[in-house]
Amino acid sequence: MFENIIGPIYFRASMSFDSNIIFIDTGEHKVLIDTGTGMEADLINKELEKVGSSYGDITDIVLTHSHIDHIGGVHPILKHADPHIYLHKTEADMINSGDMTLTLGASFGVELPPLSIDRPMEEGDVLDFGPVRFKVLHTPGHSIGSVCLHEEKMGVLVTGDTMFPGGSFGRVDFPTGNMKDLVKSLRRISEIDFEIALAGHMHAIIGNARRAAYDSYRMAQSMMY
Ligand SMILES: [Zn+2]
Ligand SMILES: [Zn+2]
Repeated sequence: MFENIIGPIYFRASMSFDSNIIFIDTGEHKVLIDTGTGMEADLINKELEKVGSSYGDITDIVLTHSHIDHIGGVHPILKHADPHIYLHKTEADMINSGDMTLTLGASFGVELPPLSIDRPMEEGDVLDFGPVRFKVLHTPGHSIGSVCLHEEKMGVLVTGDTMFPGGSFGRVDFPTGNMKDLVKSLRRISEIDFEIALAGHMHAIIGNARRAAYDSYRMAQSMMY
């Protein structure tokens, strides 16, 4: 189920191994942030229909990083639409050169066909979807090209697998994961202004989300020593 969070932003909390999915409908732009594994693609398409859209309408897919539980759902969407695909350039370069190791697809026994990322992202980029504008924060740690997306006006931070509710955060034992970087990234996001956090797994945090980011930072920091 896609639940309306604020303005044109919807959130689907996953009940499975899939990542959470964010859907943004500004009329002109129909954006997905992360896509799940692809195993539930038909169900997700039906759930999009319930909020007046479907895979065929998608104009843009933004990936918080390239792990299979976030990127696997891209291919099923490409059967219906031809969206721009955004991913931080460090991971986009790997994917575009055919290197799918960072997706962990092979480790999970899923064969991911090659994919072309046409919108590599960098720190400070602004993704302009009309009334919704995300500033790209490069927040490595969970993976080398993990990003958080900040909608300043709405006070929303999309955190991917960098930060989860309840003082938790993404694991760092996958390739390119780095605890020191993660602590730095968590500290950074705990110092910016937002009320709502939409993470890659678990529930949405509505209200005082920056405090939750601080809790995750402190927890990660304590685990370093
Ligand atoms: Zn994930
Ligand atoms: Zn991940």
